[in-house]
Amino acid sequence: MTTDTLRTRPAAIQVHDVRKAFGAHQVLHGVELTVRPGEVTVILGPSGSGKSTLLRVINHLEKPDRGHVSVGGEPIGVRRHGDHLKELSERVILGQRSRIGFVFQNFNLFPHLTVLENVTAAPVATGKLTKPEARNLALDLLGRVGLADKTGAYPRQLSGGQQQRVAIARALALRPGVILFDEPTSALDPELVGEVLAVIKDLAGGGTTLVIVTHEIGFARECADRVIFMDDGRIVEQGPPAEVLDNPRHERTRDFLSKVL
Ligand code: ADP
Ligand code: MG
Repeated sequence: MTTDTLRTRPAAIQVHDVRKAFGAHQVLHGVELTVRPGEVTVILGPSGSGKSTLLRVINHLEKPDRGHVSVGGEPIGVRRHGDHLKELSERVILGQRSRIGFVFQNFNLFPHLTVLENVTAAPVATGKLTKPEARNLALDLLGRVGLADKTGAYPRQLSGGQQQRVAIARALALRPGVILFDEPTSALDPELVGEVLAVIKDLAGGGTTLVIVTHEIGFARECADRVIFMDDGRIVEQGPPAEVLDNPRHERTRDFLSKVL
């Protein structure tokens, strides 16, 4: 896709002036972020800097106190400071959320369902696909993540890396335009990180918009179109990986990178 095409299409994700506090603790201080369709964005930052909260606001798992988020040009839940509370109905929110995949640090598979059932559950429950369609798609996706031989297994019978690959197939089964990953490899034993990153690399460049919170700097360097460094609820700097990782402008970014590299 040319840069011009990217610029003229509506943003895949637009975050405008998003603020969020938990009690007296201000966790997001007015975040601005525009993600273009097909873009691969890696978010870095120390623990507690608000990365997960930002992803949860984008997916409408948390409501911002102020500002708004739009996904695919449609606002998801709007609250304006000092304004009458405007929110989309729950039904609309659920519909929009089904266009966003979310992959969690701890996989969050349904323990009582097989691998195949984990992947078919949502498309069938939401009426997007019939059972046979969902099964065909799931078999295809499980093949793509290297788990064609595990369709009948239960999550507890799989390694962490295999479980996370099922979780990615499950996210893909809703054919989302956007997939958010929250530290997808940080719960894994080191020898299992590579197989999960390989699956995510395979998705990068495939047209799906990806936002990935990770400390895997090598992955960011190789796959990201843009790297964002967050600290204390703010985007401190962002740019192409070669700029942010190899030539950071801010002291806080340099300090963080010196600890994780
Ligand atoms: P990160 O993902 O960068 O580690 P988080 O977004 O998880 O950061 O958290 C940012 C801050 O917000 C942390 O201090 C965390 O304790 C706090 N926080 C996150 N979620 C909640 C919550 N539901 N209730 C209260 N505090 C929260
Ligand atoms: Mg987090």
